[in-house]
Amino acid sequence: MSERFESRRGKLLHSMRKLGVDALLVSGESNVSWLTGFTGDSTWLVLGPRICVLVSDGRYEIQLSEECPGLEVLIRKPEVKLHDALAKVVNGAGLSKLAFESHLLTFAAVEEIRSALPDVELCPAVGQVEELRAIKDVEEIAEIRAAVDVAIRGFYAVRAVLTPELTELNIAHELEQTMRRLGAEGTSFDSIVAADDRAALAHYRPGRMPIGDCSILLIDWGANTAGRYKSDLTRVLLFGKPTNKLVKVYETVRDAQQRAIAAIKPGVTCGEIDSVARGHIKDQGYGRRFSHSLGHGIGLDIHEAPRLAPNSQTVLRPGMVVTVEPGVYLADWGGVRIEDDVLVTRDGSEVLSARLPSDLESMLVD
Ligand code: ZN
Ligand code: ZN
Repeated sequence: MSERFESRRGKLLHSMRKLGVDALLVSGESNVSWLTGFTGDSTWLVLGPRICVLVSDGRYEIQLSEECPGLEVLIRKPEVKLHDALAKVVNGAGLSKLAFESHLLTFAAVEEIRSALPDVELCPAVGQVEELRAIKDVEEIAEIRAAVDVAIRGFYAVRAVLTPELTELNIAHELEQTMRRLGAEGTSFDSIVAADDRAALAHYRPGRMPIGDCSILLIDWGANTAGRYKSDLTRVLLFGKPTNKLVKVYETVRDAQQRAIAAIKPGVTCGEIDSVARGHIKDQGYGRRFSHSLGHGIGLDIHEAPRLAPNSQTVLRPGMVVTVEPGVYLADWGGVRIEDDVLVTRDGSEVLSARLPSDLESMLVD
């Protein structure tokens, strides 16, 4: 187990060489976790060719010894601040140039580090660990598969018990509880359950109104595994006979998604994949109604690298796992988004959520 983390640290040390620093201060919770196996928070890792130390506090002393056997740990006393404990580690090792995750630390934290380490040169570095995390190994892919699987089982269970009296919030809670009962550690994020016109709000919070005789019910949900890997899916259930407009919007979004997924393969840029879906939605007359990027990486975080966004030059590589989630949102009417989790394989892609159909027929509820 610990070899897995050691090899990740080795990869980071290799990619850090171009920074020309003595060490990188890793402060992002998921980044520290990915590099060490530690699952707590408020803990920093100082990693360089000559140093590998975790700086934490007394709450985590036992947990660190269990989760990170063999790693050097400095447990600061309650009266010692984190940046002062860091200074002790950095000065003790005689480091003179320290990179830090400038996209994650607050301005105030950087100022504190600067005053605790007046003689050390601080160099902002962005996304060093995230870039490596974008490529999942076999075990990570298995975890994401498990997260997808339990989410799908939860969805089927809840779909079977939908009634008009339930509120959006009831449905969200039922779905979340069901996934936990089926083995999920928790949810990846607060589920979105949105009926009719509320489905036009891409990041809606479920309300306390019964869904009644709604015709659209958008559900965006995901599960978190014990290893903290996440899934992220969206389906739109259609009640009664859909109107022509609803059929057109639904098929537009689904075609856009299918085309984008078909285009996914190593070597293609994320921007190209986004434009496949966006171009199709535009051709159907809804260009301005697709108001967000096409997708994002999933893993330890619900949103991570790479992003499937317009103009993104990031190149897809085998082992990346991304959501593909085009949508069309019409104010005062409703919205449709379809989201699946897709693994980039050596010669194309695999839809990890393929066993949950999304064709219009399968979404009809009597
Ligand atoms: Zn989602
Ligand atoms: Zn998503």
